[in-house]
Order: sequence, then structure tokens, then C-alpha cells
Amino acid sequence: MKIGILALQGAFLEHEHMLQRMETDYFEIRQKKDLEQQMDGFIIPGGESTVMGKLLKELDMFEILRDRILSGLPVFGTCAGLILLAKEVEDNPTYFGSMNIRVKRNAYGRQLGSFYTRQDFAGIGVIPMSFIRAPYIAEAYEGVQILAWAEGKIVAARQGNQLVTAFHPEVNEDVRVHQYFLDMICR
Ligand code: GLN
Repeated sequence: MKIGILALQGAFLEHEHMLQRMETDYFEIRQKKDLEQQMDGFIIPGGESTVMGKLLKELDMFEILRDRILSGLPVFGTCAGLILLAKEVEDNPTYFGSMNIRVKRNAYGRQLGSFYTRQDFAGIGVIPMSFIRAPYIAEAYEGVQILAWAEGKIVAARQGNQLVTAFHPEVNEDVRVHQYFLDMICR
């Protein structure tokens, strides 16, 4: 199995370290020719969704990736990655728009912008959750399975081959959310 990690900006190295620990092959996606490599799954890291969206378009990768996601390429979006996948983003433009959710960016206000908690994740158990200027899922529409809540908000969800978390599982030691994604690919 080989995972492509979008490495334009943001917290992609942390996802790489996670996959190294899990002894899973990966490669970085930095330019269009990197998309010639075969991938079984795709990770969109945290960072700044507007910057990543702009770079994806400038580098001529946006449409290729959108088509692959819409055709069922398994994808895991964390934080800004979640925003890029959402069909609706409150007061902001949308990008891939492949996931049937409405998202609010920078949603917890200044004080709660970054925080740590431990909450239940469906099918896994209680996991650490680090939020960094995080969004939340304001609404999950048809076909979306809610996987986790924190502070009364939806913070993880799945729709078919798409998995999103508002928090950053890659910054903690716990590999179980990444394992969930790899299991999703295998099924
Ligand atoms: N606030 C960022 C955005 O709107 C997301 C933050 C993150 O990915 N840690 O894109």
C-alpha cells in the first residue's frame, strides 16, 4: 500500500512520521508530476486551507485530484484538509466540495482556537485530540457518518472513502486514527 501526502504547506511531515512508525509507504505530492505515481490513499494535512487551495490550482493539480476523489480515491483530510473536502464552508469559498458537510473555519474563537482533549471516536475508543485554529463540522448531511464530537461539535466524520478530522491525530503518539484510514483503504 502506498499513500500520497499533499506536501505543499502545513503539517505534512507529521503525517509522514506517523506512516513511518506504521511502516507504511508514502510519497510527497509537491507538483503535478508526482501525481503520476500510483497511490492507494491520499492525505491532505492541516495548514491554511486557502493557501493550499490556491497552490493546488496554480500548480495545476486541483482538477486531477478532485476527479480522483470523486471517483473514490480514499482520502483523509485533517483540519485544513477537512475544509478543502467540504461541500459548504461558511463565509468562505469551497474547494474539492466532495464531502457532504457544512464546515465553520477558525470556529472555536481565539481562546479555544487551540486546545487538547480526549474524546470517544466511533469504533476506536477514547483518543487524544489536538485542535489548532480548528474548524468544526456545523452540519453533516446525507451519507455522512459522524465519528466524534468535542465541545458539543462534530469533529470527525466519514462518507464512503472520505475521512475527515477537525483535530490533528498526526501530532500525538496514538496511531489509531491513521490505522482506521488504512483499514478503510483495505476494505
Ligand atoms: N484555520 C486553518 C484554515 O482555515 C486550519 C487550521 C489547521 O489546519 N490547523 O485553513
